[in-house]
Amino acid sequence: MTSELAPAKANLVLHVGARRADGLHELCSLFASLELADRVEVEARPGAEPGDDRIECPGVEGPNLAAAALAAYRSATGADALPALTVRIDKRVPIAAGLGGGSADAAAVLRAADAIAVRPLGRDGLRDLAASLGADVPSQVEPGHALVTGAGEGVERISLPPMTLVLAPRDTGLSTARVYAEADRLGTTRARLDPRRLRELSRAETLEELAPSCENDLEPAALSLRPELAGLARRLGEAGAAAALVSGSGPTVVGAFADPGAAARAAVEIEGAIVTGLGSVAEREDDAADSLEGGRARAATPRRLAEADGR
Ligand code: ATP
Repeated sequence: MTSELAPAKANLVLHVGARRADGLHELCSLFASLELADRVEVEARPGAEPGDDRIECPGVEGPNLAAAALAAYRSATGADALPALTVRIDKRVPIAAGLGGGSADAAAVLRAADAIAVRPLGRDGLRDLAASLGADVPSQVEPGHALVTGAGEGVERISLPPMTLVLAPRDTGLSTARVYAEADRLGTTRARLDPRRLRELSRAETLEELAPSCENDLEPAALSLRPELAGLARRLGEAGAAAALVSGSGPTVVGAFADPGAAARAAVEIEGAIVTGLGSVAEREDDAADSLEGGRARAATPRRLAEADGR
């Protein structure tokens, strides 16, 4: 059995450009990879025909992104590259929340499939496949903090200053497509994106330096659809969050705190709030590590369950 963590992400900055000819929007975003993660287990189904996969994902109705990931993997590698598989997803990341849980599950399934396959595709191959599955999937092939560009396919590893996050999810999710349509209607996307500016921002040493630039171009659209989110952001700010904003297409509001104690106290006041840290800190082993500043190579790397659980 292969076990993977599928970490949630929060967008500390999300700039959204124009809709492209292919219907997707250009993005420029700072993704924080979080400790909060789904657990994904993948194992062979002895006796079943290749392709006869089973996805168990309590809490998610309808087509699962994990199934789409497996189907994409099989069509890229050939039907016989993988045995029939059972995928079990223990959802801990709130669903349709703007935290990228489904995308993280899809990326985790790609990693697991590649660990099992006779002829693995490797990380570059997985990233190409991931781009076909959704804007948030390529950055999660190797979970970690990232500057994400294009329609999600541009991924540069970054480091982030220490912070504790309070997530305020809602009971009812928001449809990403609906939020983008509302942003188009409101005209809150921008004519020009500036990845260089975000790259510089990602070098901030402290949350205080980063916080004033934390913003989300989808926030006006999310607030238009769910006005009550404004009150949550205000409460997190009053409780000491250096930045409080909607993550992704919402409806989760994220508060970033320099002081873990203040984060814990804020969470007590907000029903359903989740306190989480940034994903685990580890030196990267591949070439991309060369582009990171030595002492600040604090990107989270994919972790297997045993490691994360301290087993
Ligand atoms: P993003 O931030 O990438 O836009 P999100 O966090 O808003 O994503 P998800 O939790 O990924 O949203 O779920 C979006 C929709 O995808 C849900 O409505 C859900 O029905 C569907 N879905 C399919 N597979 C999954 C999965 N494994 N986990 C969660 N949702 C899934």
